[in-house]
Amino acid sequence: MKELEDYIIQRGTVKEGDVLKVDAFLNHQCDVGLFDRMGEEWARLFAGKRVDKILTIEASGIGIACVTARHFGSVPVVFAKKYQSINLDGEQYCTTIHSYTKQTDFHVIVGKRFLTPGEHVIIIDDFLANGCALNGLIEICEAAGVVIEGIGIAIEKGFQNGGRELRERGYDLQSLAIVESMDAATGAIEFR
Ligand code: 5GP
Repeated sequence: MKELEDYIIQRGTVKEGDVLKVDAFLNHQCDVGLFDRMGEEWARLFAGKRVDKILTIEASGIGIACVTARHFGSVPVVFAKKYQSINLDGEQYCTTIHSYTKQTDFHVIVGKRFLTPGEHVIIIDDFLANGCALNGLIEICEAAGVVIEGIGIAIEKGFQNGGRELRERGYDLQSLAIVESMDAATGAIEFR
């Protein structure tokens, strides 16, 4: 999506440790007009698919998923909640995810009543790097018996392994911008 690539070039910064900072429009301040056009683009890319729900993960996925839901008939958005520790009472699906940016593990839960076996979902998230966050959400979908129709990512870092592995596993993964390389020293960013 050319517009998203332009936003990244104009307003993103490359940090040491292969981190792309896009808090001016995606991760802190939210550009709702951009989110709306991203949702429109995913609606085009996933056209013809049955989508009963959108699944995402807090925090940055929520805004994007909610605006996107408007392009899928205002289906409900369910977000996985993050906890440092949990008391499982059997009412939640739970998994552990490693955070790339924070270099720590955290637990995520989704209430069982919000995912019904046989439902069709798309997963939406802001970033794809090594795929830890998505693999956690996929695990929850498998436990819940829902069908994953597709995965929509705003920014994929194509030089990390998550995207390649998910495509090899057969998921319909639609990333709106794929960063092929970036350089913290020069600030240069190249797209696939
Ligand atoms: P993964 O789990 O695929 O390794 O990383 C994806 C998650 O880590 C995203 O949900 C996002 O929160 C965070 N993340 C990974 N890489 C970056 C990055 O370069 N910039 C930002 N802003 N977040 C990232």
